[in-house]
Amino acid sequence: MQHVTVIGAGTMGNGIAHVFAQNGFQVHLADLSQQALEKAMATIAKNLDRMVSGQKISPELKEQTLARLVPTQDMAQALAQAELVVEAATENTELKLKIFAQMDQLSPRGAILATNTSSISITRIAAATSRPEQVIGMHFMNPVPVMRLVEVIRGYKTSDQTTQAVFELSRALGKTPVEVNDFPGFAANRILMPMINEAIITLNEGVAGVQEIDTVMKLGMAHPMGPLQLADFIGLDVCLSILRVLNDGLGNDKYAPSPLLVNMVNAGNLGVKSGEGFYDWSKGTKELIVARKFVR
Ligand code: NAD
Repeated sequence: MQHVTVIGAGTMGNGIAHVFAQNGFQVHLADLSQQALEKAMATIAKNLDRMVSGQKISPELKEQTLARLVPTQDMAQALAQAELVVEAATENTELKLKIFAQMDQLSPRGAILATNTSSISITRIAAATSRPEQVIGMHFMNPVPVMRLVEVIRGYKTSDQTTQAVFELSRALGKTPVEVNDFPGFAANRILMPMINEAIITLNEGVAGVQEIDTVMKLGMAHPMGPLQLADFIGLDVCLSILRVLNDGLGNDKYAPSPLLVNMVNAGNLGVKSGEGFYDWSKGTKELIVARKFVR
């Protein structure tokens, strides 16, 4: 396989395009927004520069990687030669159904259509196409060039052949694929989000403060960062929306989001991207917020 198309050039799309291009694939990176494409190409170049300075890759590999990337706003051009398409557009069900219908129409019959969705049903997305056996979840983790896991999610009709091909492709990127079935939150978020939610409930009940909770999990459980800091990185709106998917999809109140999380999202405190979450990120550093409002 040689030709890969990535749809959506945001946080995840640029990382996915980067790792495919660095590993020898010809990559079309498509987005509706010219600004998003420019930002993505600048981010990829900056990340490659950092890898060259750290002597992780050669300057030649950086140039070859950039030369294999074609940013475009033209979906038909992006999809015409695709053997694998990885969709990494905004997390919205109606939007993804529309994009998959378009991918189905514009890409060659044999192409595998993958999605990087964090929470939308693969089976539902596959039903928007005429080739559900070739539709699969290829869930990369952020930041894509660094994180080694690919959660490979089989929809109800995904074939063994498609799964096998995506396993091989993930390994060709130096990643470790793990197969999971199509259930709300798949495996990664099914386990991660209740932990983050419980950390927020623990904070809200006054059991411990922000720093204490994060220190317990870092030093006590050897997590590289605490759950509240991680929630700030992921985005509190994203955490809330995945918890709602778990709560609705599994019909179990143990997944009900903490009212503190709901309040923070309603207040616009979304974590790093808004400048404030459990920590203050507005100065470009992590500052502790010691606030009574976090405690009951
Ligand atoms: P993002 O908002 O950073 O980027 C989304 C991009 O999609 C934007 O550039 C937008 O212009 C583009 N887009 C929207 N509609 C489009 C269309 N019709 N055609 C082409 N491009 C379109 O989002 P993100 O954080 O990169 O998330 C992308 C996907 O990856 C989502 O499904 C999300 O759930 C999943 N994901 C995100 C993370 C994360 O940590 N951010 C981790 C794993 C999975």
